[in-house]
Amino acid sequence: MSLRNFNDKVAVITGAASGIGRALAEALALEGCSLALADKDALGLEKTATLVRDKVGDKVRVRTYEVDVGNEASMRDFAGSVDDEYGRVHLLVNNAGVTVSGEFMDQTLDDFRWVVDVNFWGVVYGCKFFIPMLERAGQGCIVNLSSLFGIVGVPMQSSYCATKFAVRGFSESLAAELCDSNIDVVSVHPGGISTNIVKNSRARGEEAVRMQPKWERFFETKTMPPSRAAEIILKGVRKGSPRVLITREAYIGDAFKRIIPAMRPKLVNRIKKLLDKS
Ligand code: NAD
Repeated sequence: MSLRNFNDKVAVITGAASGIGRALAEALALEGCSLALADKDALGLEKTATLVRDKVGDKVRVRTYEVDVGNEASMRDFAGSVDDEYGRVHLLVNNAGVTVSGEFMDQTLDDFRWVVDVNFWGVVYGCKFFIPMLERAGQGCIVNLSSLFGIVGVPMQSSYCATKFAVRGFSESLAAELCDSNIDVVSVHPGGISTNIVKNSRARGEEAVRMQPKWERFFETKTMPPSRAAEIILKGVRKGSPRVLITREAYIGDAFKRIIPAMRPKLVNRIKKLLDKS
């Protein structure tokens, strides 16, 4: 049975200092859910905790943890601390994420490793260390943030696409393993959401450096607010949907992949160039 309400439950959210993670923290607290919030950005994390407390006072427990999700020891310690503090977890949101913009040959191997460590290993560590607490709660849900770029491979995002496709495959496999348990696994695929993802990204190569300010503006002004993305994610959790698509672009990208399964690279490249010019 899926997690129908969040009152008196405990949620772990990584990447909670900003964007979608922060919006989820606010939405869950309003529904009476206690929170274990993790991020490497301690200041941003405190801001999220303050925003939550301003909204709900001490109606829910809120704890913050400075964590590097790409580091095994840091994630293991985090899980240990949450276990000590809460004992059980109903909702795990593996949300922390980063990206590098630039052609594959302009991204260094360290850039690539950074993206894989945070976006992929962060999700694996989260599941490995928190599933025992979800099992103990008797009912739960794991939400893994993939992307539209975990459905369609696009130019200038090779490391990001690689990790987001991996998160989708990992989530599907885990969902099949856990289908007879009381734990759902949801793979989330947003299109553009107005968060700090582009501001926090690394730009590599001449074209990416040139396009960066334009993409930042685009994300600030033309994309979906994170609060709406959070609402859609929590609706998906309540329904026990294995896959949640967010924004029209995500639905269009998903439909294209079904109609033309091996989307022609030239077509994808042209669409990207048209978007860059618009
Ligand atoms: P964001 O940059 O606003 O938030 C990401 C958070 O992750 C930040 O607070 C950052 O400090 C944290 N983080 C980064 N590295 C970390 C690490 N090593 N350890 C702990 N925390 C770390 O971006 P967002 O858009 O809210 O991103 C949330 C998730 O949504 C990411 O997985 C992202 O890939 C995914 N996503 C975002 C979009 C979008 O358009 N914004 C689209 C598709 C998918």
